[in-house]
Amino acid sequence: MITSLVTELKCVTCNALRKVRSDGAPAQNWMTCEVCGNEDGILDIHYDFEAVRAAWADRPLVERPHNHWRYAELLPLASSGLPWQWQVGWTPVVNVDRLAAQLGLKQLLLKDEGRNPSASFKDRASSVGVVHAMQCGAKTIACASTGNAATSLACHAALAGIPAKIFVPQTAPEPKLAQLLVYGATVFVVEGTYDEAYQLCSTACDQFGWYNRNCAINPVLVEGKKTGGLEIAERSSDFGGVPDWVAVSVGDGCTIAGVWKGLVEMHALGVIDRLPRLLGVQAAEVAPIKYALEHDQLPKPGDGTTMADSIDVAVPRNWRKAVQALRAAEGELVCVSDEQIEAAMRLAGGHGVFAEPAAAAALAGVVAAKEANIVGTQDRVLAMITGSGLKDTRSAMRAAGQPIRIPPTVDAVAAALET
Ligand SMILES: *Cc1c(COP(=O)(O)O)cnc(C)c1O
Ligand SMILES: [Zn+2]
Repeated sequence: MITSLVTELKCVTCNALRKVRSDGAPAQNWMTCEVCGNEDGILDIHYDFEAVRAAWADRPLVERPHNHWRYAELLPLASSGLPWQWQVGWTPVVNVDRLAAQLGLKQLLLKDEGRNPSASFKDRASSVGVVHAMQCGAKTIACASTGNAATSLACHAALAGIPAKIFVPQTAPEPKLAQLLVYGATVFVVEGTYDEAYQLCSTACDQFGWYNRNCAINPVLVEGKKTGGLEIAERSSDFGGVPDWVAVSVGDGCTIAGVWKGLVEMHALGVIDRLPRLLGVQAAEVAPIKYALEHDQLPKPGDGTTMADSIDVAVPRNWRKAVQALRAAEGELVCVSDEQIEAAMRLAGGHGVFAEPAAAAALAGVVAAKEANIVGTQDRVLAMITGSGLKDTRSAMRAAGQPIRIPPTVDAVAAALET
């Protein structure tokens, strides 16, 4: 396949269809709806499913490499020259049965997205974005991010050998900054909020002609995030079938929308015979999508904040897609406090999974939803652990408590064990 199997782009607000070239060749202008503009005109990408089925019959998924390029036909990329050696996706699913029993769930699965190249779920999107940028002939790629989108972009731009320009708010944790700088990106720490960093990045992309990796307005990125959902579907037979719930923490809303799109496509393609429900999770102090779900519009940005920096998003860019996904999935959205997130970090860690706060938030949401009887005792739940705990060691230390300090004697060990 020289070109992609993309047929058209559809605006999520006005439903206008935008035809792509008949050969589906990727183009840099696959951004937002011309009528609805950058704020509202988010586009959704459609594929020729007949052609996808034919390709999968020809070369079955089971015979393909264990990374997300195995879904090449469902990506908006020309499949010739895909970087099969970039080991993105196919992350471990940890069946934490003791924790499930403790919480009173039939099954609990933690999908450890921290095992991606730059240690977060965002690698799925950035890898696709970087390949798209290359296929469009872009020379420089830019993004604004609360941290992980930037680090994953910097990582994959480095793999590809193209320059990355990064805009982060001053709240970004130090380990993420360290990653950015080591990957060799140009890093602007914007003296303002994520929202201001985002605006500045968009303006700079327009002015300097850079490829804009900002997920919300770039539909290609959501296609990368979609591979998380494709994988849950394809691998569900390994863990007893499609889960009843998939829990995802929500910032801008692209992750939950992307995961849902992947599940829906696998359902349409007949890989799974039913769909899970979505459990969206936001921080109690920063929950604009909760409001949007109830009022069909965003609230005025509040000034609340959360330790979960990756979902500390007061003005979510993709709230429409997130709300549409939650509705279509008969989903629920729960909010969790920082204390609940810290507790979830300890819970996940105690079962072998080190989660950053925004990732632990998904598990905290499962705990909260179980307590609220939204999730039942017979339910099987998969929580997306979207980023590694190493991304934010300060928060990890706060959640974890203190080590035992002793002089180097065995008596001291014995004494410490007694107290
Ligand atoms: C980005 C991110 C999220 C939320 O994704 P959105 O697309 O912003 O909703 C959740 N967890 C982690 C670790 C992230 O980096
Ligand atoms: Zn439109």
